[in-house]
Amino acid sequence: MTTATAFPPVWLRDNCPCERCRDPRNGQKLFGITDLPADLTVRDTSTVADAVTVTFGPDGHQGVFSRAWLDAQTSRSAGDGRTETAKQLWRAADFDGGLPVAEWDAYLADDGERSRVLRAVRDLGFAVLHGTPTEEETVLAIARTFGFPRETNYGTLFDVRVEPNPSNLAFTGMRIAPHTDNPYRDPVPTLQLLHCLTNAAEGGDSGLLDGFAAAALLREEDEAAFRILTTTLVPFAWSDATTSLRADRPLIDVDAEGHVREVRFNNRSMQALRLPPDATTAFYTAYRRFAEIIARPELLLTFRLDPGDCVVFDNTRLLHARTAFAESGARHLQGCYADLDALTSTLRILEESA
Ligand SMILES: [Zn+2]
Repeated sequence: MTTATAFPPVWLRDNCPCERCRDPRNGQKLFGITDLPADLTVRDTSTVADAVTVTFGPDGHQGVFSRAWLDAQTSRSAGDGRTETAKQLWRAADFDGGLPVAEWDAYLADDGERSRVLRAVRDLGFAVLHGTPTEEETVLAIARTFGFPRETNYGTLFDVRVEPNPSNLAFTGMRIAPHTDNPYRDPVPTLQLLHCLTNAAEGGDSGLLDGFAAAALLREEDEAAFRILTTTLVPFAWSDATTSLRADRPLIDVDAEGHVREVRFNNRSMQALRLPPDATTAFYTAYRRFAEIIARPELLLTFRLDPGDCVVFDNTRLLHARTAFAESGARHLQGCYADLDALTSTLRILEESA
């Protein structure tokens, strides 16, 4: 049994649930750390059933804690679920039995089905919706089922099709190698949706690759290279006549405990590094090692998007790709960006009400 005295006095007081400490209407704290006595002590505790009454020194303040709540605080927190520790890392063969897919009608009608799809995006990094309307702007309606489209200089949505004067190689029939989108934005778009309206062209298949799995392989095979990619700031930029975006971020971003949290990989928008020669050479060696892992065919999951299919994926983790297609053939996708925190919020609410 956990007693209140297992917790440091300052922790108990900072979490005091009484009405003077927290607004009962919203649970928000009414004080800051410097408002608390620096020499806090626990003068006395008494327990009746689930209620643990704590009397603090030196001011005699009292708070009543739930014993069950205190017990729940003794294990290490699972965290916010954003890093590799909370994810199911994968390679292509893990989906030999099928992709995480759902029918649009079932997704709309059934909360359990919707939770399953959103959980796949959170844990695997993606899910595919089948049978969505093949009308323009449907991608925005799909994003609104779990969150909010993120408007950028590209608009609320963007068209992926062959253009006569392409501002981006995506708008040609060329093969697009695995990459993450928009590493030059801060914050980077955390979710991307791609919705297929037409795909009658020869080729033009889609690819997804787990960047967290690739980063884990790099760490396993060449820890020094992994460390270089987590600590070297890489300049990414994109500009046209009215927009000039720039963000300097590492290719592999780790949290304060060293767990992989984000991957950025996009040779098209990477700018010239300005580092001492030795550091530059070391970076390029590490970058090549990572790129060689990313190029391993067993990591790349390929599939075809048919009209009415929409893939939703975590752009901070998965790299996406496309095979070449004949520019004479009709291929039209619409894409938009959205945010992972809204998706995980929707999922949490669905799970709490299930
Ligand atoms: Zn209090």
